[in-house]
Amino acid sequence: MTVDGAFRVIAVVATETARGALAIQPASDELGLRLAELMTAAVIVRETTQPVRRAQLLWKDRRGGALVADSLPDGTNRGMVNPGEPSSVAATGDHILQVSYTAPNGSLHQGIVAIPDGDDMSTALMRYMHQSEQIVSMVALTALPGPGGVRVVGGYLVQLLPEATREVIDAMTEHLGNLPPIATMLEGSNRTAAALIADVLAPFEHAELASSSLVFGCTCSPTRIMTGILTLPAEEIDSMIAGDPLEVRCEACGRQYVIQPTDLREFRDMRSSGFQA
Ligand SMILES: [Zn+2]
Repeated sequence: MTVDGAFRVIAVVATETARGALAIQPASDELGLRLAELMTAAVIVRETTQPVRRAQLLWKDRRGGALVADSLPDGTNRGMVNPGEPSSVAATGDHILQVSYTAPNGSLHQGIVAIPDGDDMSTALMRYMHQSEQIVSMVALTALPGPGGVRVVGGYLVQLLPEATREVIDAMTEHLGNLPPIATMLEGSNRTAAALIADVLAPFEHAELASSSLVFGCTCSPTRIMTGILTLPAEEIDSMIAGDPLEVRCEACGRQYVIQPTDLREFRDMRSSGFQA
């Protein structure tokens, strides 16, 4: 934040986190980059609006196919291609950006903005902030292709605060206009969020208020998957136990599990004997 209270900047580099999501599910090169950007946008939304709550972002095509990103307050992030849909989300064409989180009063906040064909994630996020959060901001974020589906993904949001004067807004506007494109700013080895902030706020006296680390993660496990299966009717479980190995996909992170019928039988027997794993 600038010491005059005019601007707040949130910067994120989420390369390893995005690679974690791309490593466990198939995605085309282009969709992989969009998912990496959506995961970065989810962190920016959470940190800007609701740092202590989970933010979920959907990037949806016209048919309802979607990329989904969850950003959790403990720094855990998940990203998923097309949950529950056989055909993949369209990489091009018109989309919408849908943002949801639980507000402090317990109500569900949901904001939706259009992303016309050709608009990028930065533009969509800026539009969301303005229309749904009444936050005036400048957003720059991008993902670059490379090993693991993404060489680097990151970006920043500059939030205009009520203390800003016309003079300092003009100075910031000019400075941001002179900065290189975000793709260039992310080039180089080990670019960090702190380095992005240093560039964005270079001409302005500022102080760091907080920093936190990100990690790809989900709460799923074979035990959780099997616990979910045991909620099905008994005859369905019986036929699973008599059948082939089960392929089950975690609906939150996209990880594929193969459950052996013998493991499922043992797990059911253990549970029915009263033992809680
Ligand atoms: Zn999972």
